[in-house]
Amino acid sequence: MSTSHGTTLSAAPIVKRLHGKVAIITGGASGIGESTARLFVRYGAKVVIADIQDDLGQSVREDVDPTGQTISYIHCDVTQEADLQNLIDSTIEKHGKIDIMYNNAGIPGAFGRSIVDTSFEEFKKVIDVNLLGSFLGAKHAARVMIPAKKGCILFTSSVASVIAGETPNAYTTSKHAIVGLTKNLCVELGQYGIRVNCISPFALATPLLTDAVNMEASTLEAAIYESAVLKGTFITTEDIAEAAVYLSSDESKYVNGLNLVVDGGYTTTNPTFSMSVKASLK
Ligand code: NAD
Repeated sequence: MSTSHGTTLSAAPIVKRLHGKVAIITGGASGIGESTARLFVRYGAKVVIADIQDDLGQSVREDVDPTGQTISYIHCDVTQEADLQNLIDSTIEKHGKIDIMYNNAGIPGAFGRSIVDTSFEEFKKVIDVNLLGSFLGAKHAARVMIPAKKGCILFTSSVASVIAGETPNAYTTSKHAIVGLTKNLCVELGQYGIRVNCISPFALATPLLTDAVNMEASTLEAAIYESAVLKGTFITTEDIAEAAVYLSSDESKYVNGLNLVVDGGYTTTNPTFSMSVKASLK
């Protein structure tokens, strides 16, 4: 089987690294969340995808498993505490437990807008989805994981948790804050055997970014490749899904409080000086 970038997926049976685990993925109808849902099921987990795009979420569920035995969809707006409460409670009702809570839903905010032109409502909306939504997901997952004395809470942060100036103010703020939340919860929940980690991806041509920068996916992918440090390969949502599998599986049983940056080395350098030098030599 080949992906759009020519990555070959083995057709051989794979080790069920998540066998017996129950996972919730917010923002699971599209992009990183969708890829992670598909991979989690492939690795043996039972998955509940939660999103506000109901038709898309249902079509992912139908495509992965029409019987609905390994995957289900539930409407959940992560900015609404009652929705998160219902998501957790209905998952417990259906599966009896929650092993993995992946708080992944996110929005970008408006690119290229000065703080002077950013409205209160616009800033708050990004914080509400990216940060408060993650807090609410973690809060209600912890409510059932603490008595179970086990569990794994994951967040999607971003390279915008490490570097600044490339994404809108509210987005960068929210993604830095997710790392703070990860670290604080790692300390608070460690005593109950609950691990808390986050993943910080480099840019991906998902609807979140294509819509935000108003570019075709293929044009955006070319721009991402051009700016990447690591050449000879393309970043895909499956790369982030694989990181989520690792952090959710028993293979990472002693990994706690980590911000796993999946960026091909992008955040290790600031290329602007060498770019200016190269430009002046032309
Ligand atoms: P995406 O647009 O494909 O998926 C995001 C999903 O979140 C969508 O299905 C959307 O409906 C859902 N969502 C938005 N608001 C919601 C809400 N209030 N309640 C529930 N669901 C909601 O984008 P993606 O790139 O897969 O984004 C997933 C995560 O990855 C986000 O947290 C994003 O910030 C992060 N991220 C993305 C990139 C990138 O370049 N695409 C890079 C780093 C981090």
